[in-house]
Formats: sequence, structure tokens, C-alpha cells
Amino acid sequence: MRSPAAALPTHRSQPDAKGFFGRFGGSFIPPELQRQMDEINHAYLRICRSHDFIRELRSIRTHFQGRPTPVYYCKNLSDAVDGGRIYLKREDLNHTGAHKLNHCMGEALLAKFLGKKKLIAETGAGQHGVALATAGAYFGIPVEIHMGAVDIAKEHPNVVRMKILGARVVPVTFGAQTLKEAVDSAFEAYLADPVNSIYCIGSVVGPHPFPLMVREFQRVVGIESREQFLEMTGELPDNVVACVGGGSNAMGIFSAFLDDPVRLHAVEPLGRGARLGDHAASLGHGEEGIMHGFNSIMLKDSEGRPAPVYSVASGLDYPSVGPEHAHLFSQGRTVAGAASDEEAIEAFFRLSRREGIIPALESAHAVAYALRLAKERVDESILVNLSGRGDKDIDFVMEKYAAHAERGDY
Ligand SMILES: *Cc1c(COP(=O)(O)O)cnc(C)c1O
Repeated sequence: MRSPAAALPTHRSQPDAKGFFGRFGGSFIPPELQRQMDEINHAYLRICRSHDFIRELRSIRTHFQGRPTPVYYCKNLSDAVDGGRIYLKREDLNHTGAHKLNHCMGEALLAKFLGKKKLIAETGAGQHGVALATAGAYFGIPVEIHMGAVDIAKEHPNVVRMKILGARVVPVTFGAQTLKEAVDSAFEAYLADPVNSIYCIGSVVGPHPFPLMVREFQRVVGIESREQFLEMTGELPDNVVACVGGGSNAMGIFSAFLDDPVRLHAVEPLGRGARLGDHAASLGHGEEGIMHGFNSIMLKDSEGRPAPVYSVASGLDYPSVGPEHAHLFSQGRTVAGAASDEEAIEAFFRLSRREGIIPALESAHAVAYALRLAKERVDESILVNLSGRGDKDIDFVMEKYAAHAERGDY
């Protein structure tokens, strides 16, 4: 006889021992790197369960990061839509203004327990670099951030932040001099000294165990949200919405609702439109394939290589998604939605004007989608993970979308 618990459908998706979520995930890397990943995996599985690790991480979250972040009911915005009720999980109020610090503090704490002397990572727009530089400063562990020379020129404020925080920014000057080359350069630096250094990845992507580890460090967002929403409303939300680049903020909040009757919406950037190269909607438009060491759903060019991608939100322009997202989506447990540049900009101003909250352009994609959903599902509640604040985007928005700021009809 089966116990009642076993009879319930469950989507709690632990990867298997080799890091597979169903068909997706795994580890497709050179043997040399595999040995290092196995070591990180064993150390992580041992240390993350220890009392000392858990206690220190909890203390950091409370006293340094300012957690728990609130759940907030957007009454003005909901009234304006005259439909579903929109709530925000305020990760923009997490220290440094985004969810990324959740996993960077976890990764750096793991590094401390392992006695590592250096944190190494790549960064594209610089957000992950800044979060890791913050963690490095906290723990007193040197940080080395590899960044394409093209991105260094484009993302000046984040480069300055990293330097103020004491990180060494290594310019990558080969190839296209952007994110992909930065990944190659960072892995090379890591492999040159894997005993003393540790690689800190920026999302739920890469070879096993990173998708598992980063999700576990982001899980706090979901645990808090579920409790806070229940306490606030007496119910679970009907819908949970999050933007997806690699998918860490989305996995963080989704993880707490997988076994609940809650619709989970993964919102991808539709950029300028549905033509290949104009967007980064990997789940919605991609196909199965291997890149950056893991099997997932990805956007490919005509020769099967990672396709060029684009979004107004630099944190979302990644040609794949974390393997757990590919799994949950292929199982029908999540819905893939999208928002265009234009919709995200509109939502950016609407949230700013109606609620006094300036969202990151990444998060504005989730808000845009929630606004659409609220019109369709007028009796339902919608919890949006507001992954970050928009301070980093204000100059760009005012330069590129000045006419929007003049409008008074949000
Ligand atoms: C980096 C970033 C994202 C995208 O990363 P995920 O791993 O998909 O969460 C989303 N929002 C903000 C504010 C970011 O900085």
C-alpha cells in the first residue's frame, strides 16, 4: 500500500547524483575540471548540512543582508489595473539591491569553510561581480572578476563599485571581449590554482553542482515569501511570477511552491521581437542542447552554436536557462511567458509612478507580465519576485526613453 504522502504528485526536483533534473543538467566538462567540480560537490553536500554553516548563513542574512525582505501589496497598481491583486517580494531591498547577494554570500561562506584564498568569477554587466566583491569584502577573501573589455567600457559604474569594494577586475581582450570570453578566462584562472581558489557562478547554470547549490542559496526567497504571503492573506498566491535570465531568482521563489496548487510563470525577455538575435527567450523559442557544461533548452544559430541574444535588460540576455527550469517547463509545471523591451520600460515607469518603487529592468519584465496577467485573471492574486532595484538603470532609461518620462498616463 502506498502512503498518502507518496500518492501525492510531487515536483520537488532534487537532481540525481550526477546533477540531472530529468534529462537536463549534468556535467559536460573536461576531466580536469570535473575533478574540481566533484570536490566542490562533496564539500558542499557535507558542509551545507553542518550546524555551524547554517547558523552563520542565517546570521549573515539577518544582520548583514537585512533579511527577511518584505512582501508588499501594490494597492495603487492593482487598483489601476482593476483586475488581479499584485504583490511584490521585495528583493530590491536586499543589501546591494538585488537577489544575487543571496547566493554570493553562500558561495563565499562555503569558500571560507574550505579555506579558499580567492574567489573567481566572470561577470557580464557587472551585477554578479559587484555582489561577489561585496561578499569578498565581508569575508576578507580576495576577489578576481573576469570581464570582457567591451563590457568594462559599457558598465563603468559597476566596474567602479567592484574596485571600491577591493576586487581585482581582469579585462578580457580576446574574441568578442564579452561574457563568453570572460567565462573562458575565469575558468582558466581557476584551473591554474584550484586548490587555493574557488569558482563562484552567478546563476542556476553551469555544470553540477552549481544549479543545485545556487538554488539552495536562493531558496530563502521562496521560504520567506510563502510564509509572508500566507500570514498576510490567509491563502497561497494563485500565481507566482519571476523573470528568467539564468533563472536563479525564479528558482529561489518557485522552489517553495512546487508542491502547491500555484501557477508558476517564468518570464523571459522578448527584446525587440521573436526573430533569432532579437530576444533571449530560451524556453519559449529554444531547443535542447549543451552549452557551458550542462544540457538544457537553449537558443541555437543555424550551426547549432549558442545564438546571439539581446534584451534591454543585460542581466537577462543569456542564450539558455538553468537545467531545472528546462525540466519543470518540459514537465508542464511552469509556464514560459515573455515581455518585450517596450513592455518592460512601460512597467518600469508604471511601478515607479504608482508605487514609488523603481525596479531593475530585469524585474520590470516580471512586472510587465504580471500587469497583463492581472487583466486576464481578475479574481486572482499574483506574487512577483522583484529581483532588484533600478538605480543601475536610470541613466540608460532617461537617455534612451526620455519621451516616456514626459508622459503622465501611467
Ligand atoms: C542578474 C539579474 C537577474 C537575472 O538573473 P537570474 O539568475 O535569472 O535571476 C534578474 N534580476 C536582476 C535584478 C539581476 O541583477
